[in-house]
Amino acid sequence: MQPKTPPIVAFQAEALRLLKSIIEQERVGHAYLFTGDVGCGALELAHSFAQTILCQKLVDGWACGACPSCRKFLTVSHPDFLLIQAGERYIKIDEIRELKRESALNPFEGGRRVILLEEAERMNLEAANAFLKLLEEPPPSTVILLTTAKPNLLPTTVLSRLLRINLRRPPNSVIAQQLVFEGMEQESADKAARLARGSVETARKLASAEAGDSAGAGGDVGGAQLLGSLGTIEGAVKSAKMWGKDRQKVLENLDGLSAFLEGKLGEGGEDVTSVVEEAIHGVISARVAISANAAIELCLVDLFIKLGDLGLCRIVV
Ligand SMILES: [Zn+2]
Repeated sequence: MQPKTPPIVAFQAEALRLLKSIIEQERVGHAYLFTGDVGCGALELAHSFAQTILCQKLVDGWACGACPSCRKFLTVSHPDFLLIQAGERYIKIDEIRELKRESALNPFEGGRRVILLEEAERMNLEAANAFLKLLEEPPPSTVILLTTAKPNLLPTTVLSRLLRINLRRPPNSVIAQQLVFEGMEQESADKAARLARGSVETARKLASAEAGDSAGAGGDVGGAQLLGSLGTIEGAVKSAKMWGKDRQKVLENLDGLSAFLEGKLGEGGEDVTSVVEEAIHGVISARVAISANAAIELCLVDLFIKLGDLGLCRIVV
């Protein structure tokens, strides 16, 4: 599988060049701060850099997207990648302590360990102080990445220990390209990007709110649009995220996907039929696992990778 850099990451060309040269010269330091306006691509670039640090087989100086390490990273199961996401809450001292404990162990896979703290400004004061200690005595083999749109809210003692990567605000066209890369149709992507004021996150929210509306009106969360986005591991992961974690809803979506595939059974020759049958079999197995309380996101990623590998998107879309 050829690696494909997400458009929002490729757009930050200057930062990307700097990070590639750091990797190439084996000068990976201990701590980086990715900063720019909300939704400028800092999260995506930080994740991509983390994946690159852990990748076993770089292509063009960046993560290959296909080695065992990249596959684990993309399916959110790499043991040497520790992620803290703040979301709507504050990051507490206990989480930083736990991080310190875990990072004191040797990396499981023998290479490096990467810690990524998203929206780092959401550390409360105690957490920030504990984090400072981690920065002052960084565990060997550990690389710490932070993202924030509000660097001024971080203590200067923390800021002074980070290599700062400043990012640019992406234009609408790049945001639209990113959404298309994530599996959205061009027209919806353009519309969301126009309304999003330079933030890919806002664009995603707008687009998924709209997709929710159209799914309610009989849209195809499990049909052609989904299958069109499954050519890459990234596409599979993004689609799984878009389906969410509401078990009942996911089961309904799987039923919708089965029905869509069954509708395709009579449309092609024997080759097509056997591929579609295999796909339906995969959907049913995932349904059984998810009804039996298996981890939803992992089951979906696994299923979507399988469907992508079957080349279903070329056959039925
Ligand atoms: Zn790789």
